[in-house]
Amino acid sequence: MSADRTPTGLPTRAARRTLETAPFWEAAGQGRLVLPRCDACGETIWYPRRFCPFCGGREVTWVEASGRGVVYTHTTVRKGVGPYGKVGPYVLAYVELDEGPRLLTNVVGIDPAEVRCGLPVVAVFDPAGDADALVRFRPA
Ligand code: ZN
Repeated sequence: MSADRTPTGLPTRAARRTLETAPFWEAAGQGRLVLPRCDACGETIWYPRRFCPFCGGREVTWVEASGRGVVYTHTTVRKGVGPYGKVGPYVLAYVELDEGPRLLTNVVGIDPAEVRCGLPVVAVFDPAGDADALVRFRPA
């Protein structure tokens, strides 16, 4: 399993696609953030599933997300493992998207000491493998 450094300076690798996550990775590889939404009740679903965990609906449509959100919570990792052991301190965070879901991700492009809960952020797409990208966030 190889790891490449990306424009954000953090390592990445190709995603492990499944039937449920393939649309997410395909869009991310194109620089777009998409989320599954229930056709029956309208709730945005995260993590990707082929059914709605809110109402049990089985019709889910992928919709374009704004790519905007705020830091919900965060921590600074000072001793990463594997390829992350070769980078300096980095921020691991939950970002709450404008659409509601909270993604476990990284906040990049900012001194880790400056990251705060509520910080407005916007998605960035780190190339991963031949066609995928990891979704990370930078200050808006
Ligand atoms: Zn639903």
